[in-house]
Amino acid sequence: MLRVALPVPLRRLFDYRPPPGVATPLPGSRLQVPFGSRQLLGIVVESAMGSEVPAAKLRAAIGVLDTEPVFDAVLLALCLRVARYYQCPPGMALHTALPAALRRPLVKRVAHYRLSAAGTDDRHPRRADLRAVLGQGAGLSASALAAQGISPSRLRTARRAGWVESAPAALLPLPSPVVPPSLGIGDERPLRLRAEQRQAVTAVGEAFGDFQSFLLHGVAGSGKTEVYLHLIAAALERGLQALVLVPEIGLAPQLLQRIRRRFKVPIALSHSGLRSRQRLDCWAAARSGEAAIVVGTRSAVFTPLARLGLIVVDEEHDPSFKQHTGLLYSGRDVAVMRAQQQQVPVLLGSATPSLESLRNSGLRRYRLLRLEQRANARPPPVPQLIDLSAHQELRGGLSQPLIEAVGDVLDADHQVLLFLNRRGYAPTLCCQHCGWRAECPDCDARLVLHGGQPGLCCHHCGRRELPPERCPGCGVGPLRPSGYGTQRNERALRGLFPGVPIYRIDRDATGESGQEKLLGAIPPSGACILLGTQMLAKGHHFPAVTLAAVLDADSGLFNPNYRSIERLGQLLVQVAGRAGRQQHSGAVLVQTMHPGHPLFQTLFKQGYSAFAEHLLADSEARGRPPAMHMALLRAAAPTAEVATAFLRSARQLAEGGGCRLLGPLPAMPARRAGRHHYFLSLESSRREPLQSLLTELCQQLERKRRPAGLRWIADVDPEGIEAGGVEDLG
Ligand code: ADP
Ligand code: ZN
Ligand code: ZN
Repeated sequence: MLRVALPVPLRRLFDYRPPPGVATPLPGSRLQVPFGSRQLLGIVVESAMGSEVPAAKLRAAIGVLDTEPVFDAVLLALCLRVARYYQCPPGMALHTALPAALRRPLVKRVAHYRLSAAGTDDRHPRRADLRAVLGQGAGLSASALAAQGISPSRLRTARRAGWVESAPAALLPLPSPVVPPSLGIGDERPLRLRAEQRQAVTAVGEAFGDFQSFLLHGVAGSGKTEVYLHLIAAALERGLQALVLVPEIGLAPQLLQRIRRRFKVPIALSHSGLRSRQRLDCWAAARSGEAAIVVGTRSAVFTPLARLGLIVVDEEHDPSFKQHTGLLYSGRDVAVMRAQQQQVPVLLGSATPSLESLRNSGLRRYRLLRLEQRANARPPPVPQLIDLSAHQELRGGLSQPLIEAVGDVLDADHQVLLFLNRRGYAPTLCCQHCGWRAECPDCDARLVLHGGQPGLCCHHCGRRELPPERCPGCGVGPLRPSGYGTQRNERALRGLFPGVPIYRIDRDATGESGQEKLLGAIPPSGACILLGTQMLAKGHHFPAVTLAAVLDADSGLFNPNYRSIERLGQLLVQVAGRAGRQQHSGAVLVQTMHPGHPLFQTLFKQGYSAFAEHLLADSEARGRPPAMHMALLRAAAPTAEVATAFLRSARQLAEGGGCRLLGPLPAMPARRAGRHHYFLSLESSRREPLQSLLTELCQQLERKRRPAGLRWIADVDPEGIEAGGVEDLG
């Protein structure tokens, strides 16, 4: 009897008899099974002696799809642990861990044939050709046999006589491990490490072969990447593979380039932009050991690796490591689980570590390694505030002092980086007469005005529409864009600084794949303005930038999300890190209406560590995450009543379970694409009571009848309270 994980929203395994006439498949193999009237692709978790299902009701699996399990024992155990941790049905977690090409059940399976036991023992000369053709291999289809001279009628006869039987189709001949990767030295020599860097490399290097987590906190330009490269080299020297996780592949071209220049070894890239076949190739190359280095985004954490030796997570604080649908996992945290499971060191690097990771290093769970100096020996510039209440007249979103500072830098033939976290032309369209605003009919959100057709766009549901000709509120007033998005800024800047090249970098400008190209187009020197969103702040070196400015810091200051201050602090430090990385010293300017806000005071006067410590102490004192462990039970439904009633009943079930409960509360926005999103928050100072309460709660909710249209999901270690996560899982 086989215990099988299936991709259905039920947190349990399912029992099946092995498919008739084949050897019992090993755990980690894919199995095609009947499920109701459908066929599903399951993963064998274990084989067991008996079943609680009465023998007469136990169904037989249809076929085994693999000659060798797709999950090795460690990876299988990791996925099951991840499923438990994130309260996800085991079959869903295992499916998430597989490349899409391996997830599909075979709807029309081509039958394959092989010699039966009798056929193998048979010695009759009349069937010698049959034995020769079918003698080796996992099986051949009827057409492959016909091509080798065994006609369909002969096949039929041989089957009827019992010489030939149908074989489980080995869909994909899985690669077996090849020789260890050799250390191929690239064109670029490693740099001589500074003392701080050498200490970091030594510390992690000593942990090879053991599990230990390290947090590498180093200001931008302090040489973190160089530390990664030295450690990757150390792994390759030992014949081991290195797994490098990055938040977004489009933001990692410089890291990739340096890896390629440093090592002449096969490198596998794994990210969502790949086609299914490429993804599979990457998976296979990593699994066989052929790829010495695997670089990828969060899902790459599930890549099978023949000889994993080291895991690096770059920009570990980045929210992109968290998956937002289905299995709501954090690639970073799963990387740590995996390192533990496989007994390898894991290195989390950032200029602005997350509060969780700093807390873990405070608790000695992670060992903190610090790089305090920039490699070019210039301290990062201290940001200066521009008080917008004293400079109310803005041109193109820029105050007079900022305009002057930009002008000076351009005159010196240097580059300016302007950061505005708002894409589009203007955040909203307003009536000047009655105050009407363009709102999305399906969301609690304003429509954003974009340049080009159709104009109005909802950033929450993707709805697009033409702006109304006349104000729908009063019928008379003129409609005007209100506020600035990057597109409008760009236009204003062209007026302010005629003839200066402007590079706008945001999701609209790049599309999905064009990031690298767009960033690549920025000249290494010469006056120009780089204008953009988040994308521009992350991890890139712009050697000629000597002024970085944040046009509007205030949207993050008064955001209801409990993590917004942490995020804003990280962003400001990242933006500041873009200025003056090479020969010239840099300046950083931040426009705000609230220069007295404590965030600026601690962050700019005492630095990121002090700022983070302050936030941590505050969360400790107030009993809020990350000092507390938190999970959200999220629900979405066609009406607010249905969603909140469900969460209230969940709250009743959870009451007395040893966790602090908050809610139901509305997500942000509460209404998205016509559905109402709410959550119940569960918090505990210890992980175990939270996990066991959640497990119990999910089991109970799963058994309850779900109101029509309601969906729910548990979100462990949430990134925030934004609406989402709910729609993919029943
Ligand atoms: P980070 O990843 O922390 O931003 P990098 O590793 O990219 O820092 O290093 C920043 C710059 O400093 C790069 O141009 C790199 O070549 C240089 N650098 C790093 N380490 C050293 C070193 N030990 N000696 C000289 N230059 C270094
Ligand atoms: Zn009006
Ligand atoms: Zn909308």
